[in-house]
Amino acid sequence: MRLSKFCADVEFSPAQGNKVIVKAQAGLSLTRLSGLAMRRGLSGLEFAYGIPGTLGGALAMNAGTREGEMKDIAVSVTVVTRDGAVKRLSGGECGFSYRSSGFADGDAIVECELALRRDDDARIRERMRKGWEARKASQPLDKPSAGSIFKNPAGNFAGRLIEAVGLKGYCVGGAMVSEKHANFIVNTGGASAGDVLAVIKEAERRVYETSGVRLEREIKLVGRFDE
Ligand SMILES: Cc1cc2nc3c(=O)[nH]c(=O)nc-3n(C[C@H](O)[C@H](O)[C@H](O)COP(=O)(O)OP(=O)(O)OC[C@H]3O[C@@H](n4cnc5c(N)ncnc54)[C@H](O)[C@@H]3O)c2cc1C
Repeated sequence: MRLSKFCADVEFSPAQGNKVIVKAQAGLSLTRLSGLAMRRGLSGLEFAYGIPGTLGGALAMNAGTREGEMKDIAVSVTVVTRDGAVKRLSGGECGFSYRSSGFADGDAIVECELALRRDDDARIRERMRKGWEARKASQPLDKPSAGSIFKNPAGNFAGRLIEAVGLKGYCVGGAMVSEKHANFIVNTGGASAGDVLAVIKEAERRVYETSGVRLEREIKLVGRFDE
């Protein structure tokens, strides 16, 4: 289902003290929502600026950066279950953890409430600008990719482990471990999903053999693959 065409409204509640509740539908672009909040002087979504995708996907993945993640601001999430029931879960009931959530298989997130707080819009803009500059400086955003391939293991960085086994620049077909950030696999032209998976498996194998760390994938495989 493509929710962005028909399920992308947003509504800002009147402020209660410093706090404003934003009710937003799942098809809304996360970066667009972050920009709308900034223009109203609302802080809390600066981390989300530049993360591609929809609000629904961001909640399902508990998207975030070192500066914050969806679980920090999610007050409630409304889902339509596989059998058509509408359920409203509190933030605490969503099972959020690092790049993961506990929504039931088949639940479609349709709406959420996020808690933001009032701040000076120039300061918010500045935090967003800094985050975006840091992202551009460290990630290969000029080339197509699926974002970070692996979750960072506790106390370490997936990119550092992959770089340490000499895989920067490693290619299978058109899929290449980015020279800029080893946790990104970029498409240099004509990469198939199979090429990307072959690179992923090589990184998993070499990192495990060298450091004993089993990398956990952040990306999900959709479709059929020979694993
Ligand atoms: C260049 C690049 C940079 C990235 N940087 C970051 C980053 O800094 N931090 C970060 O956390 N992520 C990052 N990502 C990953 C990605 O942007 C997030 O996972 C994104 O939030 C997913 O949203 P989406 O709408 O594209 O969902 P999809 O990729 O389409 O789906 C992701 C998962 O969410 C589920 N899902 C999607 N919508 C719904 C819904 N409405 N209801 C229920 N389940 C749903 C899907 O079934 C799937 O399991 C990056 C990706 C790229 C390509």
